[in-house]
Amino acid sequence: MLLLDGKTASAAVKNEIREETLQLLAAGKRAPHLAAILVGTNGASETYVASKVKNCEEVGFRSTLIRMDADVAEAELLDAIARLNADPEVDGILVQLPLPKQISEQKVIEAIDPDKDVDGFHPSSAGKLVQGLPSFIPATPYGIMLMLELFDITTKGKHAVVIGRSNIVGRPMSILLSSNQKRGNCTVTICHSHTPNLQEICLQADIIVAALGRPEFVKADMVKEGAVVIDVGITRVDDPTAKKGFRIKGDVAFAEVAPKTSAITPVPGGVGLMTIAGLLKNTLQAYKQNHAI
Ligand code: NAP
Repeated sequence: MLLLDGKTASAAVKNEIREETLQLLAAGKRAPHLAAILVGTNGASETYVASKVKNCEEVGFRSTLIRMDADVAEAELLDAIARLNADPEVDGILVQLPLPKQISEQKVIEAIDPDKDVDGFHPSSAGKLVQGLPSFIPATPYGIMLMLELFDITTKGKHAVVIGRSNIVGRPMSILLSSNQKRGNCTVTICHSHTPNLQEICLQADIIVAALGRPEFVKADMVKEGAVVIDVGITRVDDPTAKKGFRIKGDVAFAEVAPKTSAITPVPGGVGLMTIAGLLKNTLQAYKQNHAI
């Protein structure tokens, strides 16, 4: 069994990005710049945004974190996005989800300039992805594709089962795996909460991508011998014995599933780290587009 270690894989991607950034700076150009907006103080969102900012620093990018109160009006958030859209010094914009109830996530996603849409959630980016045109790929599916490439996982002709159909993970993942490209060309089955016989379908999978947000949902009796298992899930599960009072669990029961697989991602230390790598790649791409490089 090959452990698809996100630490090694993301370090490789980040080294490449750092090298490119150093070359840009050496040529007298400014560094790529990511602006992140965080609304409220949700613990998980705080952690994700802090990690994104830290990773920007590590590769030599500039980053700006804009914090807004949980009760901020939608119009105020949209104004902040409009200012970032108009700022030529900002290459990428992300608004950390989820957002408080008074704010429409869809409006916010659509307010971001598609040329700065480094999360790849704008309908324009999603449409381009569906049509196989160059676009910003949502960071998590992008990170998974980078991981498949770095560990040389064959996908052509394989049956991939994606559990989850969200716009940020499951659906774009299913499009990428089914597309006509080097790490695509899978036959893809996409499953959701109304899928009957999920176990039967999973047992036919050469590749399983679990992105449903149900801790340890995928058990050994759902996985074929030799399958590749990608665990996207991140759920905080209460654990009074843990220092922080919770543990992070994936969607796969790792201990029982891993021995059956040919390759598997751990949680933590797997897809989460690759998601950041995907975001950094998108930010560099946005910079290059904005500078016509
Ligand atoms: P989401 O928007 O809640 O979508 C979950 C999907 O799973 C939905 O399509 C849902 O079906 C499906 N589902 C739920 N229960 C199911 C069941 N019992 N059987 C089959 N399908 C089921 O979640 P998401 O945003 O895609 O995130 C999924 C997980 O990935 C979460 O744990 C999230 O924290 C994690 N995540 C991790 C990263 C990372 O960097 N590693 C990034 C993003 C998200 P319906 O459509 O029918 O409701």
